[in-house]
Amino acid sequence: MNPKNIAVAEKIFTGIKKVFSRSKNLNIIICPPFPYIKTFNADLPSGMFLGTQNVSAESIGAFTGEVASSMAKSVGAVYTIVGHSERRAMGETNESVNKKVMQALLAKLSVILCVGERERDSDGRYLSFLKDQIKNSLAKIPKKALSQIIIAYEPVWAIGKKDTEAMKGRDVHEMLIFIRKTLSDMYGGESGAKVPILYGGSVTPLNTGEIVGEGNVDGLLVGRQSLVPESFGEILSIVSRI
Ligand code: PEP
Repeated sequence: MNPKNIAVAEKIFTGIKKVFSRSKNLNIIICPPFPYIKTFNADLPSGMFLGTQNVSAESIGAFTGEVASSMAKSVGAVYTIVGHSERRAMGETNESVNKKVMQALLAKLSVILCVGERERDSDGRYLSFLKDQIKNSLAKIPKKALSQIIIAYEPVWAIGKKDTEAMKGRDVHEMLIFIRKTLSDMYGGESGAKVPILYGGSVTPLNTGEIVGEGNVDGLLVGRQSLVPESFGEILSIVSRI
């Protein structure tokens, strides 16, 4: 729910387009709040795509305050985030997340599915928690729809913290392998390996190199630093050199 109005949003968006124009061989997906999508869609450089931060679990109808996937699609969204931890904290469950994934796919939006454990324990229960999140959020989603799915691994304990508290690159890599194994168990080896996996949680220019270099992720989900074009530009430039 940032930034606070369209004037500030446009200023940030102009800055992001400027830094993006200097980066090479990267795609970025900007997921602003709903009211900004149509304005941003008017002037979108190639390689930059729009997404929403949420969609309804319903297709259309008497659900006041909700935004349907088809509505998001009609104003320029190509992607939507589903199941962000802040929305799960507001009551979303794997079941409602699964309904949202289905609605998004039906409207031909690609899905950035957020998963991640709230905390770690020494018995490794966080691994079964994560596996359940992935399996239940993708329940009944057919293998052929995987080309429209991106997984954003966002350990909740690492979101909104200092850059030194982000997950270390080697640990990100371990989780990447775990998520790929979970997808392979569900869909078969090859398909699981093709789903892009992002890391999110306190990414800044200071930890980007280590997270992407050692973590070997396909991309990043950047929160606060996406509101600061210069920092975001540094992140892009570091990633494009890896
Ligand atoms: C987020 O909100 O999903 C996120 C990753 O935020 P930040 O980068 O600020 O930790």
